[in-house]
Amino acid sequence: MTDRDKIIFVYATPACGMSCGFCYSKVRVSKYNLSEEEIVDLVSRSKKYAFNAIGLTGGDPFGRKDIASLVEHLSSLSVKIRIDSNLLSYDLVKVKPIIKNLDLLGVPLDGPDAKIHDYNRDANGHFQLIYDNLLNIRTNFPDLKIKIHTVLTKRNIDKIYDMQRLIEEILPNSWSIYKFFPAGVGYENKKYFEISNEEFATFKKDFPNKIGRTIIDIPEDDVHDKSFLMVGSDGIVYGCFDEKKLQYQDFGRFDQNGIENALAYYDEAKMFALADKEIGLKQ
Ligand code: SF4
Repeated sequence: MTDRDKIIFVYATPACGMSCGFCYSKVRVSKYNLSEEEIVDLVSRSKKYAFNAIGLTGGDPFGRKDIASLVEHLSSLSVKIRIDSNLLSYDLVKVKPIIKNLDLLGVPLDGPDAKIHDYNRDANGHFQLIYDNLLNIRTNFPDLKIKIHTVLTKRNIDKIYDMQRLIEEILPNSWSIYKFFPAGVGYENKKYFEISNEEFATFKKDFPNKIGRTIIDIPEDDVHDKSFLMVGSDGIVYGCFDEKKLQYQDFGRFDQNGIENALAYYDEAKMFALADKEIGLKQ
């Protein structure tokens, strides 16, 4: 493990079987889906700029038909690999060859029970699916590092304390709690989700930073601004949310100087500091 990790997130699929009212993902509208060769090319290029970790996100990267081969291929490039998944396509047989190459699995969980989680995500039955699959993963892959991420909104802020029992049962390595961020669909629905800066500050001040072995991270609410590099499923590098234009800045495709253009705008120190937590390997 190097002293610092530097991660680039890639939308491995534009598809998502969910429609959370706070979703800020803009790439879901793209029909284009980066091929395995393109993602490998992207990672090779990013390594020139000291990126040593890739986060495959979606939707659900496990829904890609070639996900096992893609992860195997990325693993041969000696980068750390994180997958973020809503677990809709989780299947024990399918993920077995993938998990051995993963450094971290990130999974959403927004409440202590189905009532709160499913309400926050407008998704009946998703809490039970996540809960059952996480216990399955814990049993079958006890060494896999798991990160839970929670979107803090006015629908669940009063119930997050009650999640501690669940965290003790699932035993994730880390738990990140992000303040709702009004972008994309989330901007249109912000009246249903948005909490004030004061509410967030009070929550953050009073919340523990560890439960058993689980490290708890509550990033500042500007985490989306110049903090990590994202690549859409269309290959466009983007980031740096512009609150006036209500959109992320496009830096161009990764193979047309997109990475170079983005890095000219980014605060690398902040990117490194955040990546330490995002890859979940620093404790
Ligand atoms: S927040 Fe994640 S799981 Fe929910 S709709 Fe957006 S991409 Fe899908």
